[in-house]
Amino acid sequence: MAQQALNLRAEYAQSGDHAISSDDAEKILKIVINPPRPDKSLDNLKRLEVVCTVALPAAHPFRLYVSEYTRHFENFKSKWEGVQTREHCDQGCKDILHAQFVSLRLTKYWKDQAMSDITVALPSPTELMDSIEYQREWEPRLSPGLRQALKFDQFSRIFGQGPSSLGTGRDDATQVSDLTGTTGSASTASVLNSILHQLQQQAGQQATSTGAGSGGGGRTGGGGTENRSVENTSFNATLFGEYKTRQVNGRVVRSKDVREAVRAGRLPALPTSKVPGNNQSMCLAWHTKGQCSQSCPLSADHVPYTDTEYQPLCGWCSANYPSE
Ligand SMILES: [Zn+2]
Repeated sequence: MAQQALNLRAEYAQSGDHAISSDDAEKILKIVINPPRPDKSLDNLKRLEVVCTVALPAAHPFRLYVSEYTRHFENFKSKWEGVQTREHCDQGCKDILHAQFVSLRLTKYWKDQAMSDITVALPSPTELMDSIEYQREWEPRLSPGLRQALKFDQFSRIFGQGPSSLGTGRDDATQVSDLTGTTGSASTASVLNSILHQLQQQAGQQATSTGAGSGGGGRTGGGGTENRSVENTSFNATLFGEYKTRQVNGRVVRSKDVREAVRAGRLPALPTSKVPGNNQSMCLAWHTKGQCSQSCPLSADHVPYTDTEYQPLCGWCSANYPSE
């Protein structure tokens, strides 16, 4: 029943372009990481796809990744059913291993993206299928703690015997929650919360930047070379390490948001670049985060500074950099 209601809600959410409520999103995300029954991990992917459809703009790279991945996995489904796990006793948990495979990539992406002003690269959407075709290792190693939290071995014993051992007439969600007690472990829950938070944040930013011209919005998709990350190998962690990781409301402050505050006049202008003939401001991301993008309009300022040359930026940051 719960599963059915969610399916309906997912269809409903997909049909319109109204925002999904955080309550709905959370329910769907719980399904995403709920341990799937054998050969049912595609359902998890489809639910994830629905969340992305309603929460993210069409060209968002994460949304493109999820839908591409889902499409490839769907085409691969008949082969997937024949895939054997490394350990025979894990066979019944193959789709849990798959869910974890996906989950690790999504988590890493959102964590990296939270630290970066530019679009973080996602893995190939055919990574899993390619690994299996080339007989490479694909199964993530589950820590003993996670195995226990997922009641993995118990799950394996029950589902490993095949679907006939399942009771009939009860929906997947009930059976899974019977097995797992609660939805995942505490760490899974916090990962979920952070993904949810990011999704909402992205959706909010998209809504506010629409119409504002070339914001950080929908044009970042496609994965071309223009957004390639460049690292400041002379990053001065002594002076700026604190700003690199400074958080406000539990989130690392992004240079993009600080620049936006400067542009809107909520913060004073940034110091001018030291580069002769360059009267643009210093690149905040390059100097305070140690990372920027190749397409940065201030890239002429992507040069090493001495401590003395950094004094104006240090002064600006200590007076103006957002804090709690
Ligand atoms: Zn830059």
